Amino acid sequence: MSAETNSISWHDRAQALTLRTQAFIGGRYVDSISGATFARVNPATGQPLAQVAAADTRDIDSAVAAARAAFESGSWSKQSPSARKKVLQKFAELIDANLEELALLETLDTGKPIRDSLAVDVPATARCIQWYAEAIDKIYDEVAPTGHDTLALITREPLGVIGAIVPWNFPLIMAAWKIGPILAAGNSLVLKPSEKSPLSAIRLAELAIEAGIPDGVFNVVPGLGLPAGKALALHMDVDGIAFTGSTATGRSIMQYAGQSNLKRVSLECGGKSPNIVLADYGDLDRAATAAAFAIFFNQGEMCSAGSRLLVQAEIKDAFLDKVQNVARTLVPGDPLDPQTRLGAIVDEGQMKRVLSYIDSGKREGAAVRFGGKRVREESGGFYVEPTVFDGVTPRMQIAREEIFGPVLSTITFKTVDEAIKIANDVVYGLAAAVWTSSLTTAHRVSRALRAGVVYVNCYDADDITVPFGGFKQSGIGRDKSLHAFDKYTELKTTWIDLT
Ligand code: NAD
Repeated sequence: MSAETNSISWHDRAQALTLRTQAFIGGRYVDSISGATFARVNPATGQPLAQVAAADTRDIDSAVAAARAAFESGSWSKQSPSARKKVLQKFAELIDANLEELALLETLDTGKPIRDSLAVDVPATARCIQWYAEAIDKIYDEVAPTGHDTLALITREPLGVIGAIVPWNFPLIMAAWKIGPILAAGNSLVLKPSEKSPLSAIRLAELAIEAGIPDGVFNVVPGLGLPAGKALALHMDVDGIAFTGSTATGRSIMQYAGQSNLKRVSLECGGKSPNIVLADYGDLDRAATAAAFAIFFNQGEMCSAGSRLLVQAEIKDAFLDKVQNVARTLVPGDPLDPQTRLGAIVDEGQMKRVLSYIDSGKREGAAVRFGGKRVREESGGFYVEPTVFDGVTPRMQIAREEIFGPVLSTITFKTVDEAIKIANDVVYGLAAAVWTSSLTTAHRVSRALRAGVVYVNCYDADDITVPFGGFKQSGIGRDKSLHAFDKYTELKTTWIDLT
């Protein structure tokens, strides 16, 4: 099939798609109580996509009540781990079976290329659910070494009702990192997707029910941050909030927890990750390709994006030529065309934000080496070229603030110590990378980097088996791996007198 036929067929499929737009509470689709909706606009075209139920405090109350009733009933929370495993395995299978529909929803809502939604977003979502399904009946509790006359059991119990508030850059994957461990551990869940990308989560709820997850255990409540997200985080009957989003919103979430019931808070927030390239690294082509994808994949809308390129002075020009050669191949295009590798920015507001950072870089004296402009304006959509800044200094706004778009800020350094200092001199600490041929330097730098994930001679290596999360203002707690269960379970100590 030619690229064009493929692309036409995705457009045709989009036309034929029935979009679900209601909230999903207690096992059924419902309108918001007020009847209010919010508009989703297709970022690829600027045209209306859907009107989606806009939850407010009353809808959140209703979803939390359904989740609480399900939790107390034991329909899920008291099932054996192996029973929950079977249901979650089925859920993962259904996600795989609905690959094309979910990928299409993800691309229509966010503007990301269909090839990525098909190859990355949906499969990673299914794998995540499947992994937690497989894990849950292999975790043992503990018996403490307290002595002969007592028995002390250390057991894990589900937290109860958990609210998950997620962003729009990887709507399904970010939700799955919460859904997998939350449900596997026996909790009930109220998921609030981003108002910029609610469609795939709403569809997911239906698949959860089809898989056999009991009514009320998995609720999806679309709505704006204010009031819906706030109402969930302030709710007196929510035991934990699992949040992924900006650091600014994360700060509010902590306040809401403090103002209400001290619910447990975990935060996956922003980043401004340094990608350090040393002159001794042997394969600069490889490093340059990775540096380009570290910032341009998913239109740069990645929390872990390698948005600061720290490159040793003597190789800077040669290295940037190579990065630029990769950037040149990433021409923004129609997200529904399977050939497209760089799609649209999620909405007009985010596009304007990205463009205003590009202006700020220029104003502060950095040089645009590549890109820098809005493109495809005639499509009505929101597209920005891959952009490479040279001559950035560590105090500039584009060196310190998260842009969340396809904009690379290049800073040069002379010594390894200088690189470490610059790398750590931001409020974030999500990811970091170092490229070097010296084993000693690799170890020394990776130990010195204040980041939750450090890559050596690679960028964005990924597997569900390893924890992901940030130091400093990039967050609290870890998603993925068995460590995620720490966020969604309580430890109970039970003393038994044996005398
Ligand atoms: P955001 O903070 O604007 O929104 C995130 C979610 O919070 C949305 O569902 C939104 O509706 C909700 N929200 C907004 N205001 C709220 C409030 N006052 N109370 C409760 N909920 C509220 O972030 P975004 O623009 O959707 O996402 C981009 C951000 O997410 C970036 O900073 C990015 O780095 C971060 N992110 C982090 C990770 C990670 O794992 N660390 C992963 C993906 C994205």
